[in-house]
Amino acid sequence: QAKKADRNTLRFFDHKMQDAINARAELEAELHKALEHQQFELHYQIQVDCASRALGAEALIRWNHPTRGLVAPAQFIPLAEETGLILPIGLWVIETACAQLHAWARDEKTRHLVLAVNISARQFHQSDFVAQVRAAVQRNAIDPNLFKLELTESLLLDDTEKTVATMNALKATGVQLSLDDFGTGYSSLQYLKILPLNQIKIDRSFVRDIATDPNDAAIVQTIIAMAGTLGLDVIAEGVETEAQLEFLDLRGCHACQGYLFGKPVSIREFESSLGQSSSATS
Ligand code: C2E
Ligand code: MG
Ligand code: MG
Ligand code: MG
Repeated sequence: QAKKADRNTLRFFDHKMQDAINARAELEAELHKALEHQQFELHYQIQVDCASRALGAEALIRWNHPTRGLVAPAQFIPLAEETGLILPIGLWVIETACAQLHAWARDEKTRHLVLAVNISARQFHQSDFVAQVRAAVQRNAIDPNLFKLELTESLLLDDTEKTVATMNALKATGVQLSLDDFGTGYSSLQYLKILPLNQIKIDRSFVRDIATDPNDAAIVQTIIAMAGTLGLDVIAEGVETEAQLEFLDLRGCHACQGYLFGKPVSIREFESSLGQSSSATS
């Protein structure tokens, strides 16, 4: 009896594993098609200063799937990273963002906006990454200072020397560098001293409870003060309430991003919301 149950359990797991393998293979095939048929799009989430003036945006990828609708990056970026598809996808993101900056440069209302994109570790570590960035900046004739790359701490884990060299080369092209999800990874303060960063981005997990949890409040306050000492800009992500904004503003945080100011939206919605907020405040 027990043996039979075991066998059934085994078979059950076999099926589940096979299902998972099939689903993965299917997703991978679909990702290839998505690239070919241009099913990706960028959504734009506003970044503001503490007086709620627009500083720029973060571009966040979405997969406009023919039957599943808009698919969030968490559903496909990990597999894209594993399979290497993140390289062409990431290149598309860079190219599309630079083309957007080119378009923004032609309009008085948008020409000052900084646009940030997310870079995965695998993309960053390719040998011609710096050349790709430089080429996209030149091809689109944009001011590199308005283009920002968001890097995560995980990318610093191996070969620090080479990583710093790549970051310096990127810096030399004129683009800005931001350290995303700061506080969740392994960066020591030592790192912050040697990395050629413009900005650190405080992770949402610390921002969430700043108004109520004294530990998170202390951590965020310390990060802001430390950034100041190191001459780095600091932006808080996941700002959803006035209480959080007030806390950040009082402690000298430079910039904020979060649902309080706007969710990631299509370029059309983003641009029309800009018009509204600027006419409301001016
Ligand atoms: P991230 O770079 O840390 O982006 C911030 C995420 O937090 C976004 O989720 C954004 O929609 C969400 N968010 C922003 N404000 C709030 C808020 O106030 N409350 C809450 N609850 N969430 C907020 P999204 O768009 O699903 O992106 C998730 C992650 O996927 C990103 O985290 C980034 O790591 C990755 N990702 C997105 N686009 C790209 C891309 O083009 N390339 C790569 N390699 N990764 C990307
Ligand atoms: Mg980011
Ligand atoms: Mg982040
Ligand atoms: Mg995050």
